[in-house]
Amino acid sequence: MAEPLFLQSQMHEKIWGGNRLKKEFGYDIPSETTGEYWAISAHPNGVSLVKNGLYKGFLLDKLYAEHRELFGQSKSPVFPLLTKILDANDWLSVQVHPDDQYALEHEGELGKTECWYVISAEEGAEIIYGHNAQSKAELRDLIEAEDWEQLLTRIPVKAGDFFYVPSGTMHAIGKGIMILETQQSSDTTYRVYDFDRMDDQGQKRELHIEASIDVLNIGAPANSSPASLALEGIKTTLLVSSPFFAVYKWEIDGSVKMQQTVPYLLVSVLDGSGSITVDEASYPLKKGDHFILPSDVKAWEFTGNLTMIASHPNGH
Ligand code: ZN
Repeated sequence: MAEPLFLQSQMHEKIWGGNRLKKEFGYDIPSETTGEYWAISAHPNGVSLVKNGLYKGFLLDKLYAEHRELFGQSKSPVFPLLTKILDANDWLSVQVHPDDQYALEHEGELGKTECWYVISAEEGAEIIYGHNAQSKAELRDLIEAEDWEQLLTRIPVKAGDFFYVPSGTMHAIGKGIMILETQQSSDTTYRVYDFDRMDDQGQKRELHIEASIDVLNIGAPANSSPASLALEGIKTTLLVSSPFFAVYKWEIDGSVKMQQTVPYLLVSVLDGSGSITVDEASYPLKKGDHFILPSDVKAWEFTGNLTMIASHPNGH
């Protein structure tokens, strides 16, 4: 029987985390410094579990390995995407991620291109998106001088904004922001600057200056230009289509029938409630639910008032 695969996933505590994953999304959190919910993940550092149906109890990595037919017989050796919700109660480190080639050579995993849909942002919230150095030599000079004011590009953000963050982009999510992140399935981060913070053991987190200088791009990052199309019952916004993934925002008001046009989809409900009907079986949907529409789900109907982010891998 074709069915959506609802997932239960892992929380990650972080020095910069907060309690909004519980307050805003109703999840159980381990502490008041919970930073990330790895909502759809087959990465070994936090694998999702199927909650319903024939595959109930399967870990997503095992499901992907043993039932590739659910994923369009994808040739990618690992489930390629990772969806997270982040609660930045404080600044994340200023960081950069390597591309596939560098990461495979140095870390033995995929590189990391990511993107952010801003769920909410406090008044005055900012991110770091890119840097001002014009050459690798200037980049090194400004990092070694710790001249962060001169080096880092700050941008104000608000709910609904979207940022495409290719590998090699200097970035940091700022205090007071919640985002849904769609990224390659990777956990490799090179930290450039961590605001001289100490953890509860009095330790600073490790920096990775040389690796960062190796992989940082020169030149401003090019953000995507989201495009919307409104039809009966749904407004679809293509947030980005990159070599790694495509990401969409779906806003449902009423009901809409849809068909599977890609091997499979990852879907996250960010607001509202309603249902999805597949082969005459109806499944309730609410804010905070995450599910996969596998290859055998050829068509479905959404009903209700729902804001969702959907994604699928591209070219892998
Ligand atoms: Zn990052």
